[in-house]
Amino acid sequence: MFSQNYDKIDNKIREILRSTTLPDILETKDILEKSKYKRASLKELASLLEVGKQQETDEQFALIRNHIYSEFRKKTNTLRYIAPVYLSSYCVNTCGYCNYSAIRTDVQRTRLSLPDLDEELQEVLAIGNRVIEFTLATDPLFTPQKLSEYITKTRELLNQEKGSGILLCSGYLSKGDYEFLKEAGLWAMVQWDETLDKDRYKKWHGNSIRKSGFEKRIDNHDMAIQAGLQVATGCLFGLADYRYDVLMQIAKARYLKKEYHTSPFVFGTPRLKSIAGKTLHTNNEVNDRQYELALMVYKVAEPKIARWLQTRETPELNLRNIVDQDIYTYQCGEVKPGGYKVNKAKLDSCKNSQFSVNEMTRKEFEKELSKRSFKGDYAWRIY
Ligand code: SF4
Repeated sequence: MFSQNYDKIDNKIREILRSTTLPDILETKDILEKSKYKRASLKELASLLEVGKQQETDEQFALIRNHIYSEFRKKTNTLRYIAPVYLSSYCVNTCGYCNYSAIRTDVQRTRLSLPDLDEELQEVLAIGNRVIEFTLATDPLFTPQKLSEYITKTRELLNQEKGSGILLCSGYLSKGDYEFLKEAGLWAMVQWDETLDKDRYKKWHGNSIRKSGFEKRIDNHDMAIQAGLQVATGCLFGLADYRYDVLMQIAKARYLKKEYHTSPFVFGTPRLKSIAGKTLHTNNEVNDRQYELALMVYKVAEPKIARWLQTRETPELNLRNIVDQDIYTYQCGEVKPGGYKVNKAKLDSCKNSQFSVNEMTRKEFEKELSKRSFKGDYAWRIY
């Protein structure tokens, strides 16, 4: 279990961060060149992350950017698409950065019934999407039994089409629950660890009924993999020192590979954004330069693991960073249940969304992709 290895990895990364200095241009070139043939060490990756600190490192930043483009952008490139579908906005947790926190009384909550889900999925499938991610706040009514009914319904609608798949982003579950959901048709589990900095995690989630168990949460990927699911991991940028979280996520991916001979297929890249029009100040804000550097360091560290670019960021920033085989979401039903269709007419679009987003249409998305020698793949699940 990752929790059993946590203290050792945490100590190691804190020590690395204490002793790492900004690499000069030659050192940066050397780390990047070596990474083509040998897995970069956490110490080397920590050096690259130092480049996010100061503007006078523009030359190193450009070197890293060029390395990413030359190594990971091909003549023609593919972006794999995931369509998030919100099932519920009821939540028992109180994350201060989320509009669905239980303490927010001004949010109009909603939960999709099975007929609602059918209607919503018709819309999502009509756009062409075949890889669907269920996302839901921690709604106690969504037991594994209920989730299995939603998965079964979706599996029927996907009709075993080649490349189609169902992912679930929810609170932690047991191995047995994941096995049960896999049986119903679940393909992958998505969990952003928020932050792996235990103190910062407790600060943000210590009062949350279903999120305060740090150890349970960090072992959730173990549980899902043991049940035979693929997994997506990542941190939420802005809760702690982003350098620490990037290195911890890389270390976690390497731990999972060593333990189970399978890696997460993607690093999620969510970054704290304003909610209901209000900007959050956390003392750990990650600026664009640092954020983009973090995405690049993920790729240098683990070339085979994709990054998931999504609607919290602007299309301009996302399109600047995409490489072949990354994962993309250009539309997410306005991050609320029924946002593609069911509740579009009933709910105020900003007020009842989980956070602020920048959505596009498929036409706009594909136009932008074609300018950059990319194309979208909407049914890419690997069997
Ligand atoms: S981040 Fe998730 S768990 Fe936390 S309040 Fe929002 S919906 Fe609930």
